[in-house]
Amino acid sequence: MGQPLFPQGDDFGTRFRNVLLFQRLRRPLALLTFALAVIGLLGSYVGLNALIGRDPNAAMTHPATAFCMMVVALGLYRYRIYHAPALLQRVLSSMTLTFLLTVIGLRALRYFFDLPISMRFIENNLGLGALGTDTALVLALLFMSALVRRRSAKLGLTFAVSAVVIILFAFVGLSFGKRLMEGQMAVTTLIGLVPASLGILSIFAHNRLLRVLLLSDPVGLRTRMMLATGFFVPWTGGLFLHHGVGVPDRAVPVESLLVSVTILSMAAVAVASGYNHEKSDQVRRRLSRALARMAVEDNLTGTLNRAGLMIELRNRWEHFQATGRNECVIILDLDHFKQINDQYGHDEGDRVLAAVGDILSPNLRRSDKIGRWGGEEFLILVSGLDRGSAVDLTERLRSAIARLPTFLARTASGDAAVYDVTGSFGVSFIEEGDMSASDAIKRADVALYSAKNAGRNQVAFRAKAAA
Ligand code: GH3
Ligand code: MG
Ligand code: MG
Repeated sequence: MGQPLFPQGDDFGTRFRNVLLFQRLRRPLALLTFALAVIGLLGSYVGLNALIGRDPNAAMTHPATAFCMMVVALGLYRYRIYHAPALLQRVLSSMTLTFLLTVIGLRALRYFFDLPISMRFIENNLGLGALGTDTALVLALLFMSALVRRRSAKLGLTFAVSAVVIILFAFVGLSFGKRLMEGQMAVTTLIGLVPASLGILSIFAHNRLLRVLLLSDPVGLRTRMMLATGFFVPWTGGLFLHHGVGVPDRAVPVESLLVSVTILSMAAVAVASGYNHEKSDQVRRRLSRALARMAVEDNLTGTLNRAGLMIELRNRWEHFQATGRNECVIILDLDHFKQINDQYGHDEGDRVLAAVGDILSPNLRRSDKIGRWGGEEFLILVSGLDRGSAVDLTERLRSAIARLPTFLARTASGDAAVYDVTGSFGVSFIEEGDMSASDAIKRADVALYSAKNAGRNQVAFRAKAAA
């Protein structure tokens, strides 16, 4: 009920809902990775991939791959985002990484040179020849991502994204029936690497580039749409080419690579455009918040202005109508304020006015509102107090006003209390039978008038005359 005076914060909770959700998916993703590694391992003994692809020569998940995936899963499961990884985890990851880098290094060497027989012997006899280079690369990148993340989040994210890129190439190649990087990745490996890399990415969920994809606002939605279009259009086009029209077999599967590169470029464009959009949207949100605040704030006193008070009064009026909660209206008018202006200058008068909110606020709750009703008149709105407590509170406000000169002397180089400041107060409630909150203000005004007449520096209350 009622409208907020200004838009709240950055809507962190709602706009970043998916980011938080993604972070919370880390452990489920770790468990899934582990389960898929086990399936891949067992599957390679029963020929699961041959069954899936109806191809007796289909690649199988290498036992070393399954082992590495389990280490990733374990690390992910135990990863504490804001702490250094535990020693065991680091040792295990580093050892696995060393193994993977050795495999990759050997592959690279073999590509360029004739390896000595002994090395080839080791590779073949350990069965490492069947461990795909792309698989090893993805796993190595995932480990490196998790290991460097605390040193450099940027580098960590770069590694994780590179892993996703290789997975994308493998996926596209596999779906087109093409061999990439010395043979297809086993389907079970590919399926297991997806949650593994998503899990690692979830560690970076709050990265500004990554979270653009997750924002639950139009910017995020648009970015995801662009990403999805940039994926599905080239991919289905490629499927049509490969399986419908048919493309010649080549040593290098050019079409398949082109499709992957197109998808990647589109993804980069989507993220860059989303990121820029998000940045300008941030400026827009900040400006509109500032404007909304300026519209309801009095710039001399920093309390609400008349427009802000009107909104608050309407909210309270609606609340009274709906719940009957006590809604108290207090008017404060500074006594003989003209004299301060006349004797000490208008600037000194301004200084006094500016301090009114500060000196009263320790007596008020967050839900109480204070605003400048006009010149040296303030309105204070308080909910949920009975008459006695409201008058007690107003008495406390009255004695606070009397401390204004001392307060000012303490906050500025100004002279100590050479003049007195006092205020008169009129108190009333919104009551049954009122036509609007202004009826209560009228009663508070009448009460204020009698406080002035009775000699100022006092509190007067006025209730509705019995009908
Ligand atoms: P009373 O006790 O009867 O309220 O006497 P008063 O002098 O406070 O009342 P009056 O309404 O005659 O004068 C109000 C003065 O408040 C007049 C005006 O100069 C001063 N005032 C109103 N707005 C401002 C402001 O923004 N800054 C300053 N310095 N003075 C202001
Ligand atoms: Mg006045
Ligand atoms: Mg006055």
